[in-house]
Amino acid sequence: MAAMDRIRNIVILTGAGISAESGIDTFRGGGGLWEQHRVEDVATPEAFARDPELVLRFYDMRREAIQTKQPNPAHFALARLDAEWPGELLIVTQNVDDLHERAGAKRVLHMHGEHLNAWCTWCDVRSSWRGPLLNRPPCPACGARALRPDVVWFGEMPYRMDEIYAALRGCDMFVSIGTSGAVYPAAGFVGDARELGARTLELNLERSEGSAGFDESRLGPAGELVPAWVAEMLL
Ligand SMILES: [Zn+2]
Repeated sequence: MAAMDRIRNIVILTGAGISAESGIDTFRGGGGLWEQHRVEDVATPEAFARDPELVLRFYDMRREAIQTKQPNPAHFALARLDAEWPGELLIVTQNVDDLHERAGAKRVLHMHGEHLNAWCTWCDVRSSWRGPLLNRPPCPACGARALRPDVVWFGEMPYRMDEIYAALRGCDMFVSIGTSGAVYPAAGFVGDARELGARTLELNLERSEGSAGFDESRLGPAGELVPAWVAEMLL
């Protein structure tokens, strides 16, 4: 009862930390390296222009790898909150895997795109995609051989920012899970929400650069902190 009396609308931001506990590694885990690749060699529009095969091969590996990973208790807890929370709720994720969805969450917004989509740069249609792109398959919508990974690269604009800001403006509670608070625009969400009167909570493995901006920080693995928080919210 307690939480539902005070809080109606929730925005949850999830980042690499929640996927890391499912065995998905990230740039930030290894000193700017991602499976031995530098960010600027595989995750920028310039890299794709310079060496498309390297970039496509890299993302083909990632796309294959995430399909072998499983959601963890943090993903399942958020899916439960999504199913049972009576007010508005939006899970804004920086992650490009589909673990929130596979855990059963419905209200998920992928601000950095999705590994399991291909984006046709010719006709602008996004198609669900599980196989490789290295062999330049035709776009299912228009037939052009112009598919690229539907992930937001460094230097590109994150998706659906208008929807995210609208949700932030209307929320009573903002929760950040497993994200460093170092990368804008996501790093600015807590300040926006707090300015408008939302309660702000961080659940993270360690104190982050952004910790000072939150009303409360809880430190520990997402797989423990998130189920405990969700249980509190649904009391
Ligand atoms: Zn197309």
